[in-house]
Amino acid sequence: MSDHVAGAVLVLNAGSSSLKYQLVHPDTEVVVAEGIAERIGDHDGSITHEQDGEKTTETLELPDHLTAIRRVRELFASGGIDLASAGLSAVGHRVVHGGRTFYHPTLIDDHVIGEIRRISSLAPLHNPANLTGIEAAREMLPDVPSVAVFDTAFFHGLPEAAATYAIDRGVAKLHAIRRYGFHGTSHQYVSEQVPPLLGKEPSEVHQIVLHLGNGASASAIRGGDPIDTSMGMTPLEGLVMGTRSGDIDPGVVLHLHRVVKLDADQIDALLNKNSGLKGLCGENDFRSVTERIERGDEAAKLAYDVYIHRLRRYIGAYMIDLGRVDAITFTAGVGENAAGVRADALAGLENYGIVVDPDRNAERSRTARRISTDDSAVAVLVVPTNEELAIARQAAEVVGERA
Ligand code: ADP
Repeated sequence: MSDHVAGAVLVLNAGSSSLKYQLVHPDTEVVVAEGIAERIGDHDGSITHEQDGEKTTETLELPDHLTAIRRVRELFASGGIDLASAGLSAVGHRVVHGGRTFYHPTLIDDHVIGEIRRISSLAPLHNPANLTGIEAAREMLPDVPSVAVFDTAFFHGLPEAAATYAIDRGVAKLHAIRRYGFHGTSHQYVSEQVPPLLGKEPSEVHQIVLHLGNGASASAIRGGDPIDTSMGMTPLEGLVMGTRSGDIDPGVVLHLHRVVKLDADQIDALLNKNSGLKGLCGENDFRSVTERIERGDEAAKLAYDVYIHRLRRYIGAYMIDLGRVDAITFTAGVGENAAGVRADALAGLENYGIVVDPDRNAERSRTARRISTDDSAVAVLVVPTNEELAIARQAAEVVGERA
C-alpha cells in the first residue's frame, strides 16, 4: 500500500512547542506528506497534515512531543502509510547547535544524544527541544536510523578572525564562547545552487547569501567556503529579525540588568522574543509590517528602516570581506517574497556593479531566478531555500555510507 514511500526520509524539526515534519524522497525531491504540530505542551494543540494533496487540521491536547509524533504516525496510517514498515531510509533531524563537536551529519546513537545534551548549554532554547524530537522518533521508529544535521555545521571552518570574539581568551576557551553561525543548512543549500545559475565552477564564485525569514542571517562565501556569517555564538547576533534584536551594544544588556533590574531570563525573553520588528512596531510578520507602512504607521516605517539599515551594513561588510562579489542571493520567506526589501537593500549601488531590474524583481515566481539587469556586474538572485530536502539528502547519504 505504501510502496511509493520506500527510501524516503522523514525530516523532523522539533521546536520547543512545535514539530514540523516532511516525508520526502531525497533523489526525486517528491514530497509525500508534510505537516506541523503546534502548541505542544498546551491544552489546545493542533496538527495540520497534508498527504497526497489532502490537507487536514485537527485540534487536540498534545502534552509532549512523543504524543504529537504518535498522532502524526496515525495520520500517516489513515492515509495508507505505515511509517514503521514503509521502508524509510532514515529520519533526519534538524539540530540547532553542534558546538565544536559535530560538523558533519551524524548517525544518532546514545553517545551522540549525550553529546547533543552536553552542548545544550550553548543553545538552551533549541537543543533540548531538538532532543525531544529525536527521542520521540527513536521510540516510535526504533528500526529506522536517525541522523542529526546541525545548523552550525556549514560554518565550522570559519576563519579564526571571523569566529573569535575579542574578549578574554581564557574565558572564551573555557566556556566555548566563539562565533558558530546558524541557518547553515540553508546557506549551504542556497549557495550550492548559485554557481550553476552563473555557469561557473563553485571554486570560482564569491557570493553573499541573505537568508531573510522570521530568523535572518547573512553569509559571505568564497569558493564554497564560508568566510563570515552574521549569527554568532547564538542565533541572536546579526541582522534585525522578526522577534530578535540582532546586533546590540553588550552594554545595553548590562544596563537592563543593573538599572532596569531584569534578570537573565527576562533579558533573554526581551531580546529573543520581544525585539526586532515585533519590538519596534508590535508585528513580527513582514506582511503585516508592510501593510501598516502602507497605512502610514510610523512605528512600522521605523522598524522597516532599521531592518534595511542593518541589512545594508552587512552587505557592505561582506563585499569588502570578499573583495569581489559575483552574486548576492535572497532566500527564505522575506527574501523570496518581499520585492521591496530586495530593492531597498541594494538601492543606489550601481557604482559597485549592482543593478536590480525592477520588472524582474517584481515578478512572482517559486523558482530560482536572476533579478539583476543583464549588464549588472554582480548577479542578484532569488533562490528558494529547502532545508527539509537538504536535511533529507544529508541523512540519506550518511545511511548510504553505512550500508
Ligand atoms: P522561518 O524563519 O519561520 O522559517 P520563513 O522563511 O517562513 O520563516 O519566513 C517567514 C517570514 O516571511 C514572515 O515574516 C512572513 O511575513 C514573510 N513572508 C512570507 N510571505 C511573504 C510575502 N509574500 N511578502 C512579504 N513577506 C512574506
